[in-house]
Amino acid sequence: MIPYLSLPSRGTGRRVLESVERLRIALPVAIFLFVVVQQAWETAVVDTWPAALRFAEGVLLYGLVGPLVTFWTLDWIARAMAAGEAVEARARRGERYLASITSLSADAIFSLDTDEVIQSWNQGAEEILGYTSGEVTGQHVSVLLPSDKRERGELAVLRDRLLAAGSVRAFQTERLRRDGTAVPVELTQTLLKGEDGRFMGSSVILRDITERVASEAAIRQLNRELEGRVAARTAELAAVTAELRAANAGLVAANIELTQVDALKDEFVSLVSHELRAPLTNINASVELLLAGHPPDKIQTKLEIIGQEAQRLTRLVRSVLDVSRIQAGRLELLTAPADPGLLCRSAVARQPADHIWQLTLAPDTPAVMADVDRIPEVLTNLLDNAVKYSSPGTAVDISVRPFGADAVLFSVADQGVGIPAEELERIFERFHRVERGDARATYGHGLGLYIARRLVEAHGGRMWAESTPGVGATFLFTLPRAPEEP
Ligand code: ADP
Repeated sequence: MIPYLSLPSRGTGRRVLESVERLRIALPVAIFLFVVVQQAWETAVVDTWPAALRFAEGVLLYGLVGPLVTFWTLDWIARAMAAGEAVEARARRGERYLASITSLSADAIFSLDTDEVIQSWNQGAEEILGYTSGEVTGQHVSVLLPSDKRERGELAVLRDRLLAAGSVRAFQTERLRRDGTAVPVELTQTLLKGEDGRFMGSSVILRDITERVASEAAIRQLNRELEGRVAARTAELAAVTAELRAANAGLVAANIELTQVDALKDEFVSLVSHELRAPLTNINASVELLLAGHPPDKIQTKLEIIGQEAQRLTRLVRSVLDVSRIQAGRLELLTAPADPGLLCRSAVARQPADHIWQLTLAPDTPAVMADVDRIPEVLTNLLDNAVKYSSPGTAVDISVRPFGADAVLFSVADQGVGIPAEELERIFERFHRVERGDARATYGHGLGLYIARRLVEAHGGRMWAESTPGVGATFLFTLPRAPEEP
């Protein structure tokens, strides 16, 4: 069935060995008996003592030595043959194992002769390709080739590679089943050589890779789908990015425009303020001069109104100029150690007497680093607001105390309308005023707190507000401690 795997039967060898083993005893005994008889006959013919002695000598010499030599020789031959027989028995056992493995293998295993005619065909081949051993043995291997492979000369390619390298490994192809369908296989073909090194044919192993091919195809399909999805997402992202870029470009353009408008506005404001300053100074001076001349009451009242309005306009112009300085980063301070009590008292002194002013100075309050022109402005602004947003006769508490290791805290608390929580931060923005029914009644521009906070920050401190609407508002700010004098 599988000639290249089986050896010729060795039954004859065992029989020869058994004969040798039997002869090993029988032959020496026969030789011994023959010598005894032969020597007895010779002694009977010549019946003398010396002859009896010769008999004994002959039996000893030929009847013992001869059989012994024969026994040893045969024994040695028998042993040598037994050893050979054991080796062959082992080889035959190995052959049987191999043959059963081959026949039971799930892979198709078959052999071809030198003309590529099928010589043997295992169980696996029957299962994979559908031919029985009887149907296919003796047929040319091309019966298993799908027409496209035949046209492409696959057999010649395989033969060339086989003869060049001695084997072909893991060659993926297809083979035809008996029912005409194709099965994907992985082919391994090995050259078979006789003991004399002559080319005897080849062995072929075909592994059914239907499942592997199917899963590879599924993976490829999955990859294609993924690539498609990634491409679609990339395109979407590119579109979104382009949109964002366009939007961003629009914003940048709008921003540039706004910055230009802002710059123009600031320039205009600062120009107008500078232009207003000189005439306002003249108006103020003239009003003071006229008032000093004791005019009639009616005119004096008018002059006082003109003076107050001119003062207010002067303060507004100062504020606007401050804002434009802050915007331009040109806010200059002249800081020096200052007494917080003095700073507060000078600010309170300028306030009207219709409120109750209470100043509390913690005893251990140290000196602060302050610009002695600007910090009174900050305090005046807070006190002005306290007056503006609370009723006459109510108290305004001003307190100063150490804050942390290196700062001093100033607070101004009134008992006025207070500020809604959501406005507590916004009131520090430029031109922001809290929308109230009476907002118009209180004169202002929403610049005071903006300037005050910027001035405090320029000193290295910070400013914030706390309030319970209807109960009052407290404004707090910190200033750095002055270094202690040596
Ligand atoms: P204004 O010139 O309007 O007073 P400010 O910058 O000084 O400008 O104040 C901004 C806004 O904060 C004010 O319009 C007012 O609504 C609110 N505000 C400031 N101080 C107080 C306060 N003590 N009590 C209540 N509201 C205040």
